[in-house]
Amino acid sequence: MRWVASRVRTVARRWARRSHSLARRALYAGTRRQCPVCAHSARRFLPYGIVARDDARCPACGSLERHRFVWLYLAQRTNLFDARPKRVLHVAPEPCFAERFAKRIGPGYITADLQPNLAAESIDIEHIPHRDGSFDAVYCSHVLEHVPDDRRAMTEMRRVLKDDGWALILVPITTDRTIEDPSITDPMERERLFGQHDHVRRYGRDFVQRLEEAGLGVTVVTVSQVARADDVVRLGLTAAAGELYYCQRR
Ligand SMILES: [Zn+2]
Repeated sequence: MRWVASRVRTVARRWARRSHSLARRALYAGTRRQCPVCAHSARRFLPYGIVARDDARCPACGSLERHRFVWLYLAQRTNLFDARPKRVLHVAPEPCFAERFAKRIGPGYITADLQPNLAAESIDIEHIPHRDGSFDAVYCSHVLEHVPDDRRAMTEMRRVLKDDGWALILVPITTDRTIEDPSITDPMERERLFGQHDHVRRYGRDFVQRLEEAGLGVTVVTVSQVARADDVVRLGLTAAAGELYYCQRR
């Protein structure tokens, strides 16, 4: 009986979620926006964030500006989705990407996260448990601002790359010079100083220099390199998309 009740609750929850999602899709139905990740068209994207950013989140796949930018860049400018077998490490896999990457990349696609159950492998990126030169690509977005020794993590990502491999690394850049202080551990203080309760620093424009010091050559990619000006709003690639850092071993 208990099993039946629990099953009924699960089905009811699933149904509520589904009808909520259908209602949301209907509310946002239209063609003025199109998500390059899932190809869904919408009147607008959904608002997103605590201080809501309007026109940000895809109502179908949940992608944000930076995800749509990354997707276009990966599809247009990298070898990620070509047919050749490759080994790819995806750190802290975003739900809007994981299944799509798995389908396109195949068995060489490995997801990893510090927390167990969020990815195939539980990995601390300060100590990546893979051999030198074992990956064709590493993708790591909005992770390093949570990592105590980010320099070590950068060096590790470089180490596991093949000689001709590449890493796409993104962080939020919210100031000029990077601000960090390992003695600050109080979540409220971190939120005040670094912008989020679990961030250990606030990155500045010198992020590129930090990657270079870890032995990576960095190409900074901006939205204008992957989208025409009249597509920026339609594809939801507004300022919040930020920049991409395409890194290769030096
Ligand atoms: Zn989408």
